[in-house]
Amino acid sequence: MAGNTSKSVHDHTTDLRIPIEEDRGVLIGVLALQGDVEKHVEMIEKCGARAIKVRFIDELDIIDGLIIPGGESTTVGKLMARFGIDKKIVERASAGMPIFGTCTGMILLAKEIVGSDQHRLGLMDSKVLRNAFGRQVDSFEADLDIECVGCPLVRAVFIRAPYALEVGSDVQVLATCENRIVLFRQGNLLAAAFHPELTNDCRVHQYFIGMAKEWLESRSS
Ligand code: GLN
Repeated sequence: MAGNTSKSVHDHTTDLRIPIEEDRGVLIGVLALQGDVEKHVEMIEKCGARAIKVRFIDELDIIDGLIIPGGESTTVGKLMARFGIDKKIVERASAGMPIFGTCTGMILLAKEIVGSDQHRLGLMDSKVLRNAFGRQVDSFEADLDIECVGCPLVRAVFIRAPYALEVGSDVQVLATCENRIVLFRQGNLLAAAFHPELTNDCRVHQYFIGMAKEWLESRSS
């Protein structure tokens, strides 16, 4: 009993030590409707940022950036529409909130998905092909030269991965694999065909967290 009481007093004191505004730090949401959520949360925390799993519309109001993880794009698309979360993501994206779509996330961010009318956010000026590296290579790894994160090369894990066949003129291509576009950015939106959460290399997440920090700073200045 006594132990419990003193612990709660201690926690209370710690919570009040620094005003929330001053100790806010960047908060990254991971869309948690389906797919590889946990590994992204771990990676964000490893980078020194805070993470929350986003399941409800209101949670999109408190984050500084959103990761849409790998999974199954038709399922995530349907769930987003069912809960109305898709409209809110589009609204937050137009307000400037950074969004990072990995694999399924990259598909959902695209304006055009070859041969599919599946539900999507359609925010990026990109035309993507699902399961694009061929059935025989469901999963593979490759070393990518990603200039914006520096040396050495980034080991990238591809799982039934898409790539972008075309991107618009205001889209910056950040990496290719076998001459296919696999990492690209359009303003506050970032898309990767691979799974940066599945290695120990934090640099791609750090790059995205940098985008979220910039947005946070631009709002507080
Ligand atoms: N092929 C999956 C899809 O279309 C994506 C795979 C993944 O996210 N690893 O959604």
